[in-house]
Amino acid sequence: MTPSETPVLVDLKSILPEELRTLVRQLGQEEYRAGQLLSWVHGKGVEEVDQMSNLSRAFREQLKGVAWVSRLREVERQVSPGGQAIKFLFELPTGERVESVLIIDGKRRTACLSSQVGCPLDCQFCATGRMGFLRNLSAAQITDQLLQLARTLMAERGERVTNVVMMGMGEPLLNYEEVVRALRLMRLEHGPAIGGRKVTVSTAGYVPGIRRLAREDLNLGLAISLNATTDELRDQLMPINRKFQIAELLAAAAEFFALRGRRVTFEYVLLAGVNDSDEDALRLADLTRGVPCKINLIPYNELGVHTPFRRPPPERVAHFRQTLEASSPMAVTLRESRGRDIDAACGQLYQAQERRPRSAQAAALAPAG
Ligand code: SAH
Repeated sequence: MTPSETPVLVDLKSILPEELRTLVRQLGQEEYRAGQLLSWVHGKGVEEVDQMSNLSRAFREQLKGVAWVSRLREVERQVSPGGQAIKFLFELPTGERVESVLIIDGKRRTACLSSQVGCPLDCQFCATGRMGFLRNLSAAQITDQLLQLARTLMAERGERVTNVVMMGMGEPLLNYEEVVRALRLMRLEHGPAIGGRKVTVSTAGYVPGIRRLAREDLNLGLAISLNATTDELRDQLMPINRKFQIAELLAAAAEFFALRGRRVTFEYVLLAGVNDSDEDALRLADLTRGVPCKINLIPYNELGVHTPFRRPPPERVAHFRQTLEASSPMAVTLRESRGRDIDAACGQLYQAQERRPRSAQAAALAPAG
């Protein structure tokens, strides 16, 4: 066989129902088999075709000739001392690693997923940005993070994941096709069934992606990492701003609201002495006045040697919040990072793991092999 004739196997973890029905039909099987396959892969977490016991042996053999099920290898797990955050480190077949975090908060069980290995956007305060861009994750690899987190949560606490945030490593809107495919897979009733209001995509401000997402038949939440109130500062902190300036970003946010009817969330990471002045708070209120939104303040999680940025003292954070609330009609929230004690804060993933030896606790919790 020449290379061009080598059959390319379909990854059952990334295939959408309509595509799977076509595949099943092409194999001469009835369409309802597609639903059975989706339940095996997304519901029961079965990755060996031979274990799919309600399929005939002949069909399984046929299927193995055209399809397989990929899997990320879990290489480390860390639980925060309070047990509120569990960080998972996964390895790709190509050897790179990505992280996902399970956040336990009241009744919510949120899976924070990665979309890329590294990130091309180079935000100056972000750990992932410091790594540079290595590769996009496939839809299957994004989905698998959720499937594995969900399985762990069910096995250890008998609970289900309730929410998904695309706030791990990478810029989701720069891996658009795979991310949207994963978002479609995770809402299937055969699997975790998480969709609509329970899913938030967070972007550094890739405007064409926001406009495109606003036109998908997905009822998701959008978070925009604003982080600065002048183009001058935002150009420095988040180089993507040099292409898509604040005014254009706000227009895209307004368009998202107009088309989807959902308020966007502006995230604002507070950096001491950089963007935490009273003037910043007032400008933030002014900028966001025209866009139905929520504002989420995030005190910076310090990355140590990786960036010069610091978290403002608690009094400054409180004062910024008061100043903003006094001049903005929008709902303002303050996120106290629940993963801080294990470096699992969003935007803080990956590099911390690189420079720290495996803790005894993590070793005890990580699966063997
Ligand atoms: N690329 C996407 C999603 C990943 S970052 C985005 O930019 O939105 C998720 C969030 O974490 C963003 O709001 C980002 O501004 C924030 N963040 C990055 N590094 C951080 C840090 N060290 N401390 C606190 N928040 C951080």
